[in-house]
Amino acid sequence: MNETSAMLLDSGGLDRLIGVLGARGFRTIGPVVADGAIGPGPIRHVVDLPQGWHDEQAPGSYRLHRDDDPRLFAWAVGPRSWKGELFPPRSVVWRSSGEGDSLEIVPVVDEAPPVAVIGARPCELAALSILDRVLGTSTHPDPVYRARREAAFVAVVECSTPASTCFCTSMGTGPAVGDDRAGDEGVDLVLTELAGDERHHFLVRAASPLGGEVLAELGGEPAPGWAWSARDRLLAAAEGAIGRALDTDGLAPLLARNLDHPRWDEVAERCLSCGNCTLACPTCFCSSVEDVSDLTGTVERHRRWDSCFDLGYSYVHGGPVRTSVSSRYRQWATHKLSTWFDQFSTAGCVGCGRCITWCPVGIDLTEEAAAIRASDGAGARAYARAGAAGGDQP
Ligand code: SF4
Ligand code: SF4
Repeated sequence: MNETSAMLLDSGGLDRLIGVLGARGFRTIGPVVADGAIGPGPIRHVVDLPQGWHDEQAPGSYRLHRDDDPRLFAWAVGPRSWKGELFPPRSVVWRSSGEGDSLEIVPVVDEAPPVAVIGARPCELAALSILDRVLGTSTHPDPVYRARREAAFVAVVECSTPASTCFCTSMGTGPAVGDDRAGDEGVDLVLTELAGDERHHFLVRAASPLGGEVLAELGGEPAPGWAWSARDRLLAAAEGAIGRALDTDGLAPLLARNLDHPRWDEVAERCLSCGNCTLACPTCFCSSVEDVSDLTGTVERHRRWDSCFDLGYSYVHGGPVRTSVSSRYRQWATHKLSTWFDQFSTAGCVGCGRCITWCPVGIDLTEEAAAIRASDGAGARAYARAGAAGGDQP
């Protein structure tokens, strides 16, 4: 974090930021209120942002209300993450052309204009960093994700009002960016919204050369000392307001040795296997392909999001290998918190809490992990018994 190049902007400065990015050819996307929730949508001016809106979140519950609060970012994450802008829920891989012997398969190149993400949260930046490893720089990158991510501009707004379902402090992903709490890789600008004593400002610092160029175009005044003090107070209060926690100490091996813990069957009695948690999650990346034809004979291959809660997702040679809800929930939770480390050297969870809020029956990943930790050993003994009797695939 470069304190010397930080600027203080008012909401007019934020308006200029949106304009400058638009003039540079970016499709400017920010949080907007739509369908009773705050999520990514097109923005052209600062008035498009959710001024005065607040969210109330709890397991299985999300409500919005509005008051005369001047702040634009006084809410936590909504149901739709930025993942959808960079890794679209559905994209065309190839399209057939011609007919008979002249039939050709033509790869479809994604030509979406570069996106400027304005108002992602620190945990969402961490989620993008995880997706970068999985879809951007892995041995088999996703071409759409990689192209969109490389071209994207990302402006993060630090968190002042976490929801009751957030646990970013446990995962080291928030509520701040760029200090010892969470890194600033893959971001161009970091903003902190400061409001009080009839002042409403944004402390803005550049985190990339492009961010520095854009910030220089915006004008404003160099950030004064009081702005840094206000930021420190705001982030300390936000950190103190996070009431949910996940004990990550030794969690990966703990889950790995409890693959047949009875808790998996207990949570399966409530889980609807609806897949909401995977679709809302900013790091879930599973996809499938399907071929679609029309009456003109054109065939397209689509890549679309999929979910490990879908029975067909584990279909291998004649049938699914994860036939029970218990095995599917376990697959999801242990991938996030255990085997993801083996694949990508990080957890697959950033503590955003979406899977808790948007689970229709309020299943809480932190509660499930804590329950297994509390009876570690009982699961290992059950596993030994089940192993002797044969059972569902881990
Ligand atoms: S597993 Fe849940 S809390 Fe973790 S990143 Fe995904 S949605 Fe957020
Ligand atoms: S944990 Fe909740 S959101 Fe996820 S599949 Fe089960 S019921 Fe649906």
